[in-house]
Amino acid sequence: MQANVAFEPPQATAPLDAIIVGGGPAGLAAAKYLADAGRSALVLEKRPVLGGKLSSWRDRDGDILETGLHSFFGGYETVHALLRDVGIAHHVLWQPHTLTFAMPPGFSQRVGPQAAFEEFHFIDAPSPFNGIGAVLNARYVFNAWEKLLFATGTLPILLGDHRYAERQDDITYADWHRKRGMSEHMLQTFFAPMALALNFTPADAISAEAMLRVMAYFASSRDASRAGFLDGPPNERLIEPIAEHVRERGVRIESTARVAELLFSDGRCTGVRTSDGRTFEAEHVILATPVHDAAKLLPPEMLRDPLVYGVGRLTSSPVINGHFWFDRPISAHTNLIFGAGTLLPVHADLGQASPGYGWRNKSFLEVCIAPADDLMMLDDDAVIVRVLADLTRLYPLATKQTLVKAKLVRVPKSVYRASPGAERLRPGARTPVANLFLAGCYTNHRFPASIEGAMRSARAAVDGILARPRARA
Ligand SMILES: Cc1cc2nc3c(=O)[nH]c(=O)nc-3n(C[C@H](O)[C@H](O)[C@H](O)COP(=O)(O)OP(=O)(O)OC[C@H]3O[C@@H](n4cnc5c(N)ncnc54)[C@H](O)[C@@H]3O)c2cc1C
Repeated sequence: MQANVAFEPPQATAPLDAIIVGGGPAGLAAAKYLADAGRSALVLEKRPVLGGKLSSWRDRDGDILETGLHSFFGGYETVHALLRDVGIAHHVLWQPHTLTFAMPPGFSQRVGPQAAFEEFHFIDAPSPFNGIGAVLNARYVFNAWEKLLFATGTLPILLGDHRYAERQDDITYADWHRKRGMSEHMLQTFFAPMALALNFTPADAISAEAMLRVMAYFASSRDASRAGFLDGPPNERLIEPIAEHVRERGVRIESTARVAELLFSDGRCTGVRTSDGRTFEAEHVILATPVHDAAKLLPPEMLRDPLVYGVGRLTSSPVINGHFWFDRPISAHTNLIFGAGTLLPVHADLGQASPGYGWRNKSFLEVCIAPADDLMMLDDDAVIVRVLADLTRLYPLATKQTLVKAKLVRVPKSVYRASPGAERLRPGARTPVANLFLAGCYTNHRFPASIEGAMRSARAAVDGILARPRARA
């Protein structure tokens, strides 16, 4: 857990350049960009642990719990640049460039009495041909006719036409898929788990634009879709090192410091008040919270302004992060796995893939459980029984007998829900108040809600601050 850092109030003669509300990836990246530019900042995080949705901590046995299973894709340019700057890029363990789709027995006529694993091996060719090669070699997901339909259906995307994607925000991905004449089997096997992995939202409820943007991004560069895992828990490998980097450059970080109110005077945001009644002043404020917290902090009258209108209207997807420890290796797969027709749209065996999880030569599966809307009503035992049943269908060695323990972390409001129309509601960094900025993965940086999106949003907010005249020398 992140220890509280003693906070000394800023000197009256040296007002802070910025207060950053929220110590998740967006808030910490904003602190890093400000510190590197020689600006002063204070980060206020409401939870005792930093990292937001990327946070991790340990249970009583010393085993790692996380808010979410996180993979770092090759195309995360902003993230990888930041990791290099901080000197922690070596913590990303790159997996083979393969997208693996798991299908339970009998999932379709193409899957027999045992689970099938389709591995899309990206071939050694420039993008998008490396991905086209992967699809051409597929055995279960696409037959020859479907490969042709896939190629013609996704052609505008493979050609990188972003404006085409933008025009598809009014319909769901499933509707777009059917309109393009692509098969139902392809939808259920490939795109349904992809939608759930991307936004914890089913393919018949997610905006087509949100999905098409990801496809465009996956096709944008040779390694964009290659997955990497951290070589240990995110708080130890990524969050604390970034926090340390910014502390060394004079940034103050306070955890267990909930901002209850933004303070305004003469059309400026002058600072914040925390829930324990303290006030902090600064030249700028960056609101780097999830969208539902931003909606609580922005004054209701401001939410009518077109710049931030969407903040009050975007909703969030629920998800549950499942942790399943087994007493032996239950799978031969160590890469990221997309699971069709199960409650495990995306999962990975971090015990085998990542040494820092301390479960070497045994299986520790982290599982994003979605859709979780209805599961939120069930107690943990009931959810674990259902997820274990799906795990057993994919990995027969994953049984009650081999399971050592299972734990869930519920995130009732995770990332913004990318329903049709939501993409247009995503705000930019600017607000109607010139010195108040928004950051966070829900803001519009032409990227899905992700660590990369969060860090891009931080860059945009800090660029906004750096573009303004300085109040002092
Ligand atoms: C299960 C799961 C799996 C995921 N998998 C991936 C993945 O594989 N790859 C990927 O790129 N992304 C993944 N994501 C998404 C990624 O975690 C988020 O996009 C990213 O963490 C968002 O960062 P953020 O800083 O915008 O928001 P957050 O991480 O939510 O951080 C916001 C912070 O603000 C704090 N806060 C809120 N209100 C206040 C207040 N009033 N005062 C002070 N502090 C406040 C919060 O406590 C939080 O720490 C996953 C998310 C989940 C839930």
